[in-house]
Amino acid sequence: MGDKGDGTLVVHAGLPEPVPGEPFLPGPVFAAPYHLDPVNGPGENGYGRPDNPTRRALEAAIGELEGGQVRAFATGQAAITALLLSVLRSGDTVALPSDGYFTVRAFAEGTLRDLGVSTVLVPTAGPYPSFEGVRLVLLETPANPGLDVCDVRAVSAAAHAAGALVAVDNTTATPLGQRPLELGADLVVASGTKALTGHSDVLLGYVATGDEDLLARVTTWRAQTGGTPGAFDCWLAHRSLATLDLRLARQTANAAAVAGLLSGRSDVTGVRWPGLSTDPSYEVAAAQMRRIPGIVSFDLGSAERVARFLEASELVFAATSFGGLHTTADRRAQWGDDTAPGFVRLSCGVEDTPDLVADLSAALDKS
Ligand SMILES: *Cc1c(COP(=O)(O)O)cnc(C)c1O
Repeated sequence: MGDKGDGTLVVHAGLPEPVPGEPFLPGPVFAAPYHLDPVNGPGENGYGRPDNPTRRALEAAIGELEGGQVRAFATGQAAITALLLSVLRSGDTVALPSDGYFTVRAFAEGTLRDLGVSTVLVPTAGPYPSFEGVRLVLLETPANPGLDVCDVRAVSAAAHAAGALVAVDNTTATPLGQRPLELGADLVVASGTKALTGHSDVLLGYVATGDEDLLARVTTWRAQTGGTPGAFDCWLAHRSLATLDLRLARQTANAAAVAGLLSGRSDVTGVRWPGLSTDPSYEVAAAQMRRIPGIVSFDLGSAERVARFLEASELVFAATSFGGLHTTADRRAQWGDDTAPGFVRLSCGVEDTPDLVADLSAALDKS
């Protein structure tokens, strides 16, 4: 499928060969133990923690999109901590984004520090320090929630020259937005909870890599620590993947219209969307990304104005997470994030663009 478009790719990703009488996407296989061959012992399916065919089909699908081998986890955090703990050892240093997903920093400042792993925090937009003595560089681009973008190819080259591994959190972009393994990263980690599955009903994470040794370490880690997603969630995720191209197309179109609307208003500041030609990340994003995600961030000045805006809007749901079918807004400071009180991360859904623009415009006027 290498020469096919994104829509074709996601519709067919991970599906078995057609068999008359069988469904396109086989239903979830619910099993803890499987029947064993009493003579020859376990085959492909022995026990549910390491082995599940529904999960393997999903992993094959995501693997086609990322261009690597995939191990699925119960959540994005399970995938990220699996990566960190299977690669890092006492005495190592990890470089993490200072403006990325805050739970990762909290984990580094707690568990990793206690295990003797040091952390250097680097802003996604740079400048990047020397990576001498660093074991792993984790990038997050676009960074959640500030949406700065970094040049994965350039940072990977610098990190590799210093002997460091590079992982990219691909949650915000999804593999249709960028392919970090093709840009030189050793690993991808991501939350599939967001745009990848996109229906606000599943928690999921994954690690992808083309390196057999790293894959083996992550596989062993998962088999021993057990943070696997259930079969039903894997099936829901695989089913949702088929519409990824369509969902992202509408989300991006909505974000473009919303970013245009917001940046034209004097009562909204700090509008960020890497697809705006005036955005500080525009050039790197345009060169590196295959499409720009449907997330726009901005500042309404105060928590009170954000509340008034959300009450006045008919279409924007107050909710955390992002990438779903419904437009949602999250005032990140309410979670103890180090963002300004009026900072909003808006996730554009798949509503009709004129409806969304009209609703946002009216809600801002009323607030
Ligand atoms: C949500 C998110 C995570 C964590 O994913 P969960 O599925 O919630 O555990 C990690 N990284 C980024 C960039 C995220 O947005």
